[in-house]
Amino acid sequence: MIRKRIIAANWKMNMDFKSIDTYVDKLRNYMNDINFENKDVFISPPFVYLDYLKKKVKEIPVKIGAQNCFYEEKGAFTGEISPLMLKDLGLDFVIIGHSERRNIFNETDEILNKKLKKVLENKILTIFCIGEKLSERESDKTIEILSKQIDNAFMNINKDLLKNLIIAYEPVWAIGTGKNATIDQIKEVHSFIRKYLKKFVEINIPILYGGSVKPENIKDIMSLDVVDGVLVGGASLDMDKFIQIINFEE
Ligand code: PEP
Repeated sequence: MIRKRIIAANWKMNMDFKSIDTYVDKLRNYMNDINFENKDVFISPPFVYLDYLKKKVKEIPVKIGAQNCFYEEKGAFTGEISPLMLKDLGLDFVIIGHSERRNIFNETDEILNKKLKKVLENKILTIFCIGEKLSERESDKTIEILSKQIDNAFMNINKDLLKNLIIAYEPVWAIGTGKNATIDQIKEVHSFIRKYLKKFVEINIPILYGGSVKPENIKDIMSLDVVDGVLVGGASLDMDKFIQIINFEE
């Protein structure tokens, strides 16, 4: 069976209608160069552009998903977006627990557990992010922090639901900083996560690496067997760069 590598774009709070038009035009031009047999391309724009982007890429086999959602399905939660609304839009996936949600918006492990539970119960493919801060790495707490983030995330979640899960390991100190983790660091942590996940399920949950992924380092990162794909922030905003990441030479 062909191993599909996942290349996921997280646009964060960037782009507008005009830049999306240019982006998709370029993607369409590059489309024949992409081998969709062995690549799964995911794109997550801000909420307000989800429907527009989804319709614009209709004939292109890329997955479109949200960067976040709430843990309740409906009700008096001003400003929040429900998992049912994501399903209503026909979206393909959602990202939960990005470090910017954890650190800027104070989303705790408890909140993220509720979110993960709700989206998985709704059968939404989920990229769940984990990662240590610089101070935690420097005090040798990486493994302890990641284990705790996984344990807390999976609390009271039926293990059958984990088949719709993708984990993204994103060391916080490597996000948007231009500093990516070394190949040895990525190998060590991904190998640990892979083993640790077996505590919960037999199936292989895909594990992505995220943190300053760019055309210059994609090949080395993807050369690791324990890396199933990448989650890309900054470099995914420029289609010319993103296509080089998608089409890295194996
Ligand atoms: C991210 O936001 O998930 C990310 C990895 O960002 P960047 O690639 O810019 O470091």
